[in-house]
Amino acid sequence: MARSDPGDAPIQSGDAPIQGGGAPTPGREASSQGGNTPTQGGNAPTQGGNAPTQDRGVFSEGGEVYLDYQSARPVDPRVAEAMQPYFTERFGNPASLHAVGDRATEALEQSRAGVAAFLGATPGEIVFTSGATESNNLALIGYARKNKRSGNHVIITEVDHISVLNIGKYLEQEGFRVTRIPPDQYGRINPEKLRARITDDTILVSVGWASNEIGTVQPIPAIAEMLGGTGVALHVDAVAAEGQLPLDMGTVPVDLLTISSNDIYGPQGLGALYIRRGTRLAAVTMGGGQERGLRSGTENLAGIVGMAAAARIATEELPTEAPRLAALRDRLIQEVLCAIPDSHLNGHPVERLPNNAHFRFEGIEGESLLLSLRDEGIAVSTGSACSSKTLEPSHTLISCGLLHEEAHGSLEFTFGRFSPEADIDRVMEVLPGIVRRLRRLSPLYRKQ
Ligand code: PMP
Repeated sequence: MARSDPGDAPIQSGDAPIQGGGAPTPGREASSQGGNTPTQGGNAPTQGGNAPTQDRGVFSEGGEVYLDYQSARPVDPRVAEAMQPYFTERFGNPASLHAVGDRATEALEQSRAGVAAFLGATPGEIVFTSGATESNNLALIGYARKNKRSGNHVIITEVDHISVLNIGKYLEQEGFRVTRIPPDQYGRINPEKLRARITDDTILVSVGWASNEIGTVQPIPAIAEMLGGTGVALHVDAVAAEGQLPLDMGTVPVDLLTISSNDIYGPQGLGALYIRRGTRLAAVTMGGGQERGLRSGTENLAGIVGMAAAARIATEELPTEAPRLAALRDRLIQEVLCAIPDSHLNGHPVERLPNNAHFRFEGIEGESLLLSLRDEGIAVSTGSACSSKTLEPSHTLISCGLLHEEAHGSLEFTFGRFSPEADIDRVMEVLPGIVRRLRRLSPLYRKQ
């Protein structure tokens, strides 16, 4: 398979480090090795209190160095504490007409306002869902069905999350025409190439704000501006970007935006869809008419209270957390590319998420690397957890022009709020030796 743009050189070992981070904040290091105990519920700081910075890295029960934040994040102890009463004494159903129900409604609406504030939106623009997959379904299927009289063409990208790709296939079965825009070699979508695919029939464009795999950030403000005034709606899956980049619906004219609770250290199995006022959707879940009829089913109140607490903390900490993560990322990228020959950075060198370092190592399989790191107590990923059980190479890497064997040689490191600097030390202690050992055994690596 040909590379998408053979003229541009890939990022190789020894290349200049990427930008975007200052020095790590002093005093934040905490040992992630041996003897860590899981954080107990009773240790949780009070709501609105200080971040649990002393205990970074203690969240995995097995004491692993956890560098797979893109797959799952621990619930922040402050979030868990905010949720706790909603499992017990504040258990009401917001749909009930008695006082217990009223208190539940109050908590639900306060939380809706909190999540809206996180996005620079108004409370009436937020619908809670069971997660990002459901938000993506409601956004794409709900918008396409409701607006099909205006046209039957939907544009997505080749590097979207698997849920969007599969919704695209489903929409085709419903009779919509779906165009998939290819990225450049770094996984970026060019707004001009996107514009060229818009026709009179186009009703919706969907682009992920950032890749949950390779960390490349898309030019969403430019795409939103380009679509302004065309009557074509823009949906953005912001799951990989939330909590790491500012998402302000007041300044970026997105019509529909998917977020998930766990990606900001709230509970799993919960998400929201931002629906700009005036954007019309058909419901895809039928039932009792909750969430303005757009998402029937009793709300997950404890989770929603947690998501609002998580959103508030994410907003407060973004200005300090994003540069801290970027410094960890830059250090890992620089040290891996320096210490390991024939290693490459996947994704964009600059326009990338602060918490993502994604590498390709010539001549070895990502799975073997993952298992060797696992033996050393380090948890990483070869790509999206959502499709990790398939043997297929990552669709994102293939769309960036990598050959199948190159895509299979990739490894993703994602950090988060509880990642100490010591995690990078530990990776660098073992990774170069593991790569050397696997290459000695590999018939694919002939440079030794
Ligand atoms: N979109 C993106 C970008 C994701 O990374 C994920 C997975 N975390 C999803 C959507 C789907 O999320 P969920 O499995 O929670 O529905």
